[in-house]
Amino acid sequence: MIDKLNKYGEVLENVSLKKYNTYRIGGIAKYIVIPNDVESLQELIKFLNANQIKYMILGNGSNVIFSDKTYDGAIIKLDKLNNVEIDGLQVTAEAGVMLPKLVQTCVNNNLQGLEWASGIPGTVGGSIVGNAGAYKSEISDFLINVTVIDKNGNIKTLKANEIDFQYRHSSLKDKLKDLVVISAVFGLKPGNKEESLKVMEDRRTRRVESQPLEYPSAGSIFRNPEGDFAGRIIECDVKLKGKTIGGAKVSEKHANFIINYNNASSQDVRDLIDLIHSKVLENNNIDLIVEPEFVNWE
Ligand SMILES: Cc1cc2nc3c(=O)[nH]c(=O)nc-3n(C[C@H](O)[C@H](O)[C@H](O)COP(=O)(O)OP(=O)(O)OC[C@H]3O[C@@H](n4cnc5c(N)ncnc54)[C@H](O)[C@@H]3O)c2cc1C
Repeated sequence: MIDKLNKYGEVLENVSLKKYNTYRIGGIAKYIVIPNDVESLQELIKFLNANQIKYMILGNGSNVIFSDKTYDGAIIKLDKLNNVEIDGLQVTAEAGVMLPKLVQTCVNNNLQGLEWASGIPGTVGGSIVGNAGAYKSEISDFLINVTVIDKNGNIKTLKANEIDFQYRHSSLKDKLKDLVVISAVFGLKPGNKEESLKVMEDRRTRRVESQPLEYPSAGSIFRNPEGDFAGRIIECDVKLKGKTIGGAKVSEKHANFIINYNNASSQDVRDLIDLIHSKVLENNNIDLIVEPEFVNWE
């Protein structure tokens, strides 16, 4: 198999997923494939579908919770789709570009709008699929169009309004799940580099002060329920701040973060999520929704 996959790009075999997600958890990936370019990605997708080989696209792995099991298929990383181009007020970014790099490039070119995203450790592709957001902005607010590859390897461009975006969710996660995002065009406003840098610094300070960034995690673990904060409920109502299971811990700094405190297994993280979920359901009658996606648990 590896000699077949090699045609499309760099291939790693039987590698730990721990290096490929911000939680630093997970089992072994049978294959990780890093396609050389868009054409290789098209051919790879055709090959995997024709041979019924399971696959998924992985961005920076900052919104996934892998199980401890082996992923018996191909994990595709778009690290080589890493280009940003600016044309007036429009910015085209490939799916593998990290948001902090995208924001910095825009700001350097006096383009304003995406400053809120400078501390989000995700790729453009993953952030569009999950409609990443912060400080009352979300990525879909700035999208003009998204270019994708379908499972037959065909490229098409969708206008932003052809994708249904909701709070931390898009139809690319369900109805349009077969599509792989390869690039997107953002519409920004003329700005001022110094002012944008000030906004970014303010957001960075807020994150450093409020989030346990010194530990591996996947960011906020639960979506905030209507009119309340998951962190407040976990800390004040069910009093689980600081609770540990194995190497996983409810952060002392922010109770809506479960951190990989000490070599946690995926199961430790999941057990702690389940514990919080059931306590909050019992105590508050609120069915908290987990924000990151469980992968390879079935
Ligand atoms: C410390 C920390 C802080 C965070 N703060 C925020 C925040 O403020 N706001 C916020 O919204 N999120 C936040 N997150 C969560 C996370 O960074 C975002 O959700 C981010 O957008 C995920 O991007 P990713 O590339 O890591 O996606 P991944 O986790 O790699 O993937 C997420 C999903 O998208 C799919 N996917 C990835 N790329 C593609 C593609 N090209 N085509 C099709 N499907 C694809 C994957 O298959 C998976 O289903 C935070 C995370 C951490 C660790």
